[in-house]
Amino acid sequence: MKVKTRFAPSPTGFLHVGGARTALYSWLFAKHTGGEFVLRIEDTDLERSTQEAIDAIIEGMEWLGLEWDEGPYYQTKRFDRYNEVVDQLLADDKAYKCYASKELLDEIREEQMAAGLKPRYDANHPRVVEANASATEETPFCIRFRNPKEGSVVFDDKIRGRIEFQNSELDDLIIRRTDGSPTYNFCVVIDDWDMGITQVVRGEDHINNTPRQINIYKALNAPVPEFAHCSMILGDDGAKLSKRHGAVSVMQYRDEGYLPQALLNYLVRLGWSHGDQEIFSMEEMIQLFSLESVSKSASAFNTDKLLWLNNHYIKSSEPEYVAKYLQWHLDAKGISTENGPAIADVIKLVGERCNTLVELAEQSRYFYQDFEAFDADAAKKHLRPVAKEALELALVKLEALEDWNTENLHTVIADTCAELELGMGKVGMPLRVAVTGQGQSPSVDAVMNLIGKPRVLARLGKAIAFINERAAQ
Ligand code: GLU
Repeated sequence: MKVKTRFAPSPTGFLHVGGARTALYSWLFAKHTGGEFVLRIEDTDLERSTQEAIDAIIEGMEWLGLEWDEGPYYQTKRFDRYNEVVDQLLADDKAYKCYASKELLDEIREEQMAAGLKPRYDANHPRVVEANASATEETPFCIRFRNPKEGSVVFDDKIRGRIEFQNSELDDLIIRRTDGSPTYNFCVVIDDWDMGITQVVRGEDHINNTPRQINIYKALNAPVPEFAHCSMILGDDGAKLSKRHGAVSVMQYRDEGYLPQALLNYLVRLGWSHGDQEIFSMEEMIQLFSLESVSKSASAFNTDKLLWLNNHYIKSSEPEYVAKYLQWHLDAKGISTENGPAIADVIKLVGERCNTLVELAEQSRYFYQDFEAFDADAAKKHLRPVAKEALELALVKLEALEDWNTENLHTVIADTCAELELGMGKVGMPLRVAVTGQGQSPSVDAVMNLIGKPRVLARLGKAIAFINERAAQ
């Protein structure tokens, strides 16, 4: 049977890393098996669902590159279908109208607790029976699924192994509320059935819902999919991952300068392993992923490792790939790349030194924008009167240089050193501060090559003027 998986977020907030990892596992399983992946927005909770959250989830999925073959489907567009199935279950006596009011059920629950019993809905409670018997046309009602009373529900979770629930533990759950809206546990079954989902990959918070859902599949004679419940993600302090641990929204990782590939590689390893391999290309992830190798235990988030992976991908990815994402950060910082070197060339030069694209964008700035002032410490150390002669001589040589390339620039610096009998640092450092405004940069000949002749000459002129001004003070 062709595999079809899905990611089914409720749009009550942004796409967080836990959701993204579930989506990734579900997506990888589909790709690994040559199957399909569906995106479904579970927006039946009208009060908590927002369009903003829907947009944020779609944006997150797109940024991660987790493309879906079908969807997004919206549960709010499927109410007619849910009602049709509710009617069918009513007709088959597999569901029934329940007239017991919320107040009555609350009272019964309190009685049960006072008597030391487990609070639960009991269709045979005399007061419930009475409420049903005395209902009129006007009495509001909800619809409940008739859960089997005996036996148990067993399923082989692909991650956690065999799980069994006694039916006696499950009450008759509401499938349509008094206001006519269908409930999550019901919609999810109808959707997964209609959409032909073969494997349900989701968070472990849904384990307790699974036996209820399986009973509904059975009542409908629908094929029961396989289930795989992923464990929680914890912060590095062992508590459930939350905002207090820093970024939890996928888009915040984009804002903080992570590459989607680094985050995906990080997330796949957060609970899944293949020997002790840490770096996985997308092709390798697809090829090697299996639900059976996903860990049952909770995984702790480790920002240092994510940073390490991000640096790895900045360094080793095709510069054009990094450029696509760096462009976003350059735009965000108002750095126009129109009159400057190709972004990919800048990445080749400075990428290695950067852990994030935010740093990389900052380190790219001087290739495209003139700076207002020299870094104070660097200027104090390197733009001193002794450096003036070196800068002036270099300027004359650079003005005369016709073939502007790294090798020739290297020769200019070497010649300047030789003529003035100065060490490399005595010329290279003032030049670096003059053309980049700062004390650290990659090799200054390569940097000058990319900055380009007009800008380099203008900046050297400014540095010499700066030294003159300081000397005059
Ligand atoms: N909408 C549910 C959630 O966001 C997921 C339901 C499911 O995957 O079955 O938690």
